[in-house]
Amino acid sequence: MRRIQRRIAFLALPALVAGVFVTTGPAGADPTGSTAAVGSGLSQLENREQARLVHIKLAGADMLDKVVAAGFDLEHGLKRVPTGIEGEAVVTAEQITELKAMGVEVLGEDVGFAWSDEADGGIQGAAARAAQPSGHEATVRIARADWFTTKGQGFLYVEARTTEGQQAAPIVGMQLENDSGKGTPFGFARTMSRFVDSGQYMFHRNLFKLDARPNQIQVTSSTGGVATGFVSNWLEDAPPPLTANPSYKSDFVDGYRHPQQLYSRAKEIARQYPDIAEIVYLPNQTNGYQRKAQATIGGTGQAAVVVSSAAWGHEGGNDVTVEFADRPGADLPLAVEVAGKAVRVLLAKGASGGLASTATQVADALRAQSQGLIDRAHPYRTNAGTGIVAPTAGPVALTDFLDQKRVGAPEGEVPRGPVTIPVLRIGKHRDGKKPGVLIQAQDHAREWVPATTSLESAERLVHNYKSDKETKKIVDNTDVFFILSNNPDGANYSFYNFASQRRNMTNHCPDENADPARRNSWGVDLNRNYRVGSGHDGYAGGSTSCVSDTYQGPEELSEPESKNIIWLVEKYSNIKFMMSVHSNGGQLFWQPGAYIADGRITTPRPPLGDEAFYWQSAARILSQVKAHRETVVTPENVGGSSDVLYSSAGNVREDLYHTYGIYAFGWEVGGSVYNPATGNWQGGSFQPAWEGNPNLVSGHAETMEYANGIMEMFRVAADWGKDKKNPTSQLIPGDGKYRGPVDVHFETSEPATIYYTTDGSRPTLESPRYAATEFREPGQVFHVTETTTFRWFSVDSAGNIEKNYDPTKNDKRNNYRTATIEIAKK
Ligand SMILES: [Zn+2]
Repeated sequence: MRRIQRRIAFLALPALVAGVFVTTGPAGADPTGSTAAVGSGLSQLENREQARLVHIKLAGADMLDKVVAAGFDLEHGLKRVPTGIEGEAVVTAEQITELKAMGVEVLGEDVGFAWSDEADGGIQGAAARAAQPSGHEATVRIARADWFTTKGQGFLYVEARTTEGQQAAPIVGMQLENDSGKGTPFGFARTMSRFVDSGQYMFHRNLFKLDARPNQIQVTSSTGGVATGFVSNWLEDAPPPLTANPSYKSDFVDGYRHPQQLYSRAKEIARQYPDIAEIVYLPNQTNGYQRKAQATIGGTGQAAVVVSSAAWGHEGGNDVTVEFADRPGADLPLAVEVAGKAVRVLLAKGASGGLASTATQVADALRAQSQGLIDRAHPYRTNAGTGIVAPTAGPVALTDFLDQKRVGAPEGEVPRGPVTIPVLRIGKHRDGKKPGVLIQAQDHAREWVPATTSLESAERLVHNYKSDKETKKIVDNTDVFFILSNNPDGANYSFYNFASQRRNMTNHCPDENADPARRNSWGVDLNRNYRVGSGHDGYAGGSTSCVSDTYQGPEELSEPESKNIIWLVEKYSNIKFMMSVHSNGGQLFWQPGAYIADGRITTPRPPLGDEAFYWQSAARILSQVKAHRETVVTPENVGGSSDVLYSSAGNVREDLYHTYGIYAFGWEVGGSVYNPATGNWQGGSFQPAWEGNPNLVSGHAETMEYANGIMEMFRVAADWGKDKKNPTSQLIPGDGKYRGPVDVHFETSEPATIYYTTDGSRPTLESPRYAATEFREPGQVFHVTETTTFRWFSVDSAGNIEKNYDPTKNDKRNNYRTATIEIAKK
């Protein structure tokens, strides 16, 4: 069976829905947690039958891996739901059957899709506050309780855990109540949704539409656990964006840009602003927007022969013709004649005059006797090639198919062959002393908005440098590297040939997948080709299939595009920040971004100080996005990507963070905009109409709002570079005599990681790190049952150490912090 195309394009996906904890101490939630006892775009679908939009649901990450491995593209816009993963897909009837055979549930074919529950009716009377039922340890903890508004509508996002969440029977339920402002009673009880991933209970979570901001919430489990917590603001208190300055210049990009335009503008900027900009060329050329010229001829099935030119199409391959010829007579041998670029196969005849060459024999003869014109000839797919080859009607011209322009392709010829990627470097002091920020767009070819967003950011820097003092601060204090498209070959293919192209253009497929009908399915997913948490190491979310849209490549860093990134961050070791810009989904991610499915073992979690710094930076970045037209990236879509969405084996963020200590973000721009007219969240597409609906899905609006976010990321980096202030920290409660066991936790003055001891030794960087109670939760609570002395110090995200303590050598001042919790003997 011939399956030309299995790609699925995800369309609209709404976002669900929480505050920034700046301190490492509990935020929002009461510190009732226990533990550690101490003292002891609608993309174009080509050549296919009628495709339609369906909602699908997968049971979990295991099934996702299976479906991805089968060649379906389920990368973008997926949405976690309590019982699995949902999405919207454009598929043919045949593909639906295949999905169902893999266990995928097809939910329906409508378009509208509401996530947010309306708040239930009336107040149900006063509820008691936070009384811990006797006989129950604290079984419920609130991780997040966040309030935000968008386009006139309020939302409450809650994430809470029960320590009994993994229990299979009975499944523990959770109920949420909220007040209606300070001093009002709890009410509006509603059931929370249980989120399970890869067989592991994660937490309960929901996004609720509310008209008034609650002050507190209360979460109750069906086994009697109760927790209350204060509600935090999410993106509610943003300072005005740079664009609020009336003389600030913006809105430079007026349409989508293909790679030649992006690179040419980057070089022009470097020429126009030589005092603050230059081009750095990446050393590894891409494999090129080019293919071998091909044809599948000689019949179908066992008789088909797949022929590929030795030369690239544009270097002579497209001039090659192949003819399979019949001759009168009997008992004739198989022969090959070559005249110029014309290859003529004289098919063998049997004793009675019938045709007698099999596909395998013809393929072997072509490889051996075409005088170097054909270097690859083989039976079709997995066929043995036992069929008798039929003559062709005449010479068949081989083609690389690259001159087949798709409808709506831009004007102009696309340069063929390998490309050298220019990096636009902007900064007043490009001497390696300022914090470097790498903005890397369009690893994935069909994602057009990330490229325009990055270009717009570069334009704003150079145009406002002289006139806007905030921009001058950025340019004077950072060293920015823009890769406007990291996948030019694939991007050209997306613009000119196949809009849904995701990967690069490198064909690593063996013969069984090397025929031209597979051409839209070749290439490496560059964001699966890195070395940390990779598919080659057993992490989930990368495919070993060369025709899968998440194909990880034959080995780690097999592709020039990924080698280049490693080269860049090694050469410019001042790069401390990175944003891998993708579309579409309305998400902002960091580590962990990958896990081993069996046991759901993630790559190492960032220490609490880094986690808090990520959240703080995310809130700044996303507040500036919101300032443009009230687009809210919801807290449910922010964090370690494998905690909130799925595992992406071998992604660039894991490598840059874990190998080089770079704060490496990934975001999905576009999509997930609240539409007050329908009351639903509406997702975007890879290539939305440039001037689409300015309030909803529009390439232009997305470019402008997300460029705001990139500018704020530069300010985060500039502030980080100037941060010379030491953090301070506290043990709460601190030094003192207590009548019985006491719960203590740490808090810090800014995002910082605490190293501590309780055994009398001096704390060092090898000492235990103060950790979160659980992921996405505030810092752990120690249950102190006997007299304990804590010794500790804190380190902030810029490396400043509390009280200038030196943990690396025997600092005679012993300038660390101490506190003794004295527990009275009974
Ligand atoms: Zn992407």
